Amino acid sequence: MIYQSIILILTLILASMNSSASFSKQNNSTVAYATSNSAAQNINVVTSVSPITNIIKNVGGNKIDLIGLVPEGVNSHTFELKPSDVIKVNNADLVVIDGLGLETNVEDIAEEARSKNTQLQVLKLGDNTITSDQWVFDFSFPAKEGDPNPHLWLNVAYAMKFANLTRDKLIEMDPQNAHYYTTNTDRYISLLKNLDKGIMQAVHTVPPENRKLITYHDSWAYFALRYNMTVIGAVQPSDFGEPTTQEVARIIDQIRSEKVPAIFASEVFPTGVVDQIAKEGNVTIVGTLSDDDLPGNPGNPEHSYVGMMLVNMENMLVPLGGNITALNGVDPKDTYLIS
Ligand SMILES: [Zn+2]
Repeated sequence: MIYQSIILILTLILASMNSSASFSKQNNSTVAYATSNSAAQNINVVTSVSPITNIIKNVGGNKIDLIGLVPEGVNSHTFELKPSDVIKVNNADLVVIDGLGLETNVEDIAEEARSKNTQLQVLKLGDNTITSDQWVFDFSFPAKEGDPNPHLWLNVAYAMKFANLTRDKLIEMDPQNAHYYTTNTDRYISLLKNLDKGIMQAVHTVPPENRKLITYHDSWAYFALRYNMTVIGAVQPSDFGEPTTQEVARIIDQIRSEKVPAIFASEVFPTGVVDQIAKEGNVTIVGTLSDDDLPGNPGNPEHSYVGMMLVNMENMLVPLGGNITALNGVDPKDTYLIS
């Protein structure tokens, strides 16, 4: 009996909470409606890798609904789309990719979706940033396989172009918010300019004879061009498998003859090969460089493209004998306005 009374009291309390909840819900409904109404007008943007997703976020802010298809920490070169990703592409207004052969699976799905939805737009940032005479073919991206090195965003000047291209496309699709997109882009470009300048200065602190990169994953081609470094080798074969014993031996020879002080592993291609090379090549320092994965967790200020570049510079330039003092004032946090 007591038990039943308790249940009854609890039911009454819950009922009263419910009615107050439904009251406040009703109260909020105008706000919720307004939000969902404006949310309904938000452009649905689907993109690929985390650094590009973050660049787009800094331009589109809260006027776009943004989905990055490549999960954090998954390499962008061999990732596979899930059926739910296909639905996301089908529901998109705009698909933004790097291009240059990196996300051919997303391109295929987007083309298919476009046959049903002619409004769907596809923006290839990389293809619109450089022309084919500026493509770099190299160790892991040889000319005979056709696709150039796609890692344009590690060159901050190209990241600025990515932001500008995104701004122009969003303004074209959503002219009402042109001022918002322009303001965001201006704010973000000024941060990227500081980053770019800081990297230039930090690279200058590395002794000239050490401005050489041997990496596992071959992602620094366009970075090296901008900041006057030389990529002298990459360990990873073009099929993204493990290197053969001969390939490993060749890299070890190169390390010895070029006297590089450090070699670099990749965040999304964990392998023991780099440690083996470091040991046999007498290189004591192995840094880890990242081109897909943002540091920290979502919500952390450093979980951004700029944050990723700052960590990369520390992991790259300090082992090569430089310092990153010039980057001290660069704040990694997102710059878009909440409106
Ligand atoms: Zn990569």
